[in-house]
Amino acid sequence: MKLWVTPRGDRWLCSECEKIHQAAIAEEGWRPAFEKNDPMLRCSECGQGDVEIFD
Ligand SMILES: [Zn+2]
Repeated sequence: MKLWVTPRGDRWLCSECEKIHQAAIAEEGWRPAFEKNDPMLRCSECGQGDVEIFD
């Protein structure tokens, strides 16, 4: 999960939402502050975690 600095505040985005929001990222100049692999993190857009669950 990456923490993005956006004009509307910092947002965690999963890789799927990063693709979906690519236009906004480019147009509004979002930049990734850092990346963290933490299964407890939830995407600000879709509410899903980024980490695959292996069982
Ligand atoms: Zn998402």
